[in-house]
Amino acid sequence: HYAVGIDIGGTKVAMAVVDEAGSMLAHHVIPMDLSIQPEEMLDRICEEVTMLVTRSGVAWDSILGVGIGAPGPLDIKQGKITCPPNLPSWLDISIVDYMENHFSKQIILENDANAAAFAEKWLGAAKGEDHFIYLTISTGIGAGIFCDGKLLHGHKGNAGDIGHGVMDPSFGPCTCGQIGCLESIASGTAIAKRGSAIMGEELTAKEIFELYFNGNTKIFLYIQRVFDVIGAACVSLINTFDAEKIVIGGGVTQVGEALFEHVQSYVSSYALNPSGRETKVVPAGLAQHAGVIGAGALCLDVSK
Ligand code: ADP
Ligand code: ZN
Repeated sequence: HYAVGIDIGGTKVAMAVVDEAGSMLAHHVIPMDLSIQPEEMLDRICEEVTMLVTRSGVAWDSILGVGIGAPGPLDIKQGKITCPPNLPSWLDISIVDYMENHFSKQIILENDANAAAFAEKWLGAAKGEDHFIYLTISTGIGAGIFCDGKLLHGHKGNAGDIGHGVMDPSFGPCTCGQIGCLESIASGTAIAKRGSAIMGEELTAKEIFELYFNGNTKIFLYIQRVFDVIGAACVSLINTFDAEKIVIGGGVTQVGEALFEHVQSYVSSYALNPSGRETKVVPAGLAQHAGVIGAGALCLDVSK
């Protein structure tokens, strides 16, 4: 059996045909277009999925369903994307009904960090672990929490949205209305925005990190502060959930080792309990594919 996974992000939509071993038979990424109506974007995604399945050579009859990972807030019980700050026009979008009408298959919705956490437990850096947290640092920031072997969902499927926890008010307002949220400090979007302001030119997060590695003094201290804030968020998560491992994924982790070393050192110094200080901070085993494989896995019979 097979499933289709769709990972909807603030900058891109990844999709894949996944088999029961978690291998991707076909994979495709399209840009997220926020200048068009969500319904038009959904049409585009459905069209691309249809082409992808054809390209994979898998018969539609062998596809059990379509799993979707999407940015929160959402409502997994009603199958709706509610009001994600990083998809500002996607208000009350009944994505499950929409895809059900289109594909006549089982459709399952999860928040994107939870879907990725699920994949990392199944096949990735947290294989078989019962107490770990998957943190995604991409257009936005979110977490998927495995506690006592169970993925936490909460009331509507939004558990783990640490991106809107206040970390440092001196960084200024967040899209959610609070001041100094993790996401408004350390997401790729935030790094590009503040880094560009520091440098006085329009730069991407990747370019800001290049300046950091080249020893640019203006950027150096700023990025160290961002890494500290990510470390502090990890310490809060470890102290709250008694996690044994933190897996970090998402576009910004492509920056590489520097981020992991810094955050590991912060955690080793400041987690409250001695076992917490031993918590390993590691990159996602499925790299940039955790979200899309996890989305597909929602429809496959893998042990949750
Ligand atoms: P999405 O949020 O759409 O799921 P990603 O997980 O790819 O997408 O995250 C996109 C973010 O990652 C963007 O803010 C982008 O600037 C940032 N990014 C992409 N490549 C790099 C890189 N090499 N180093 C640091 N940040 C990066
Ligand atoms: Zn916020």
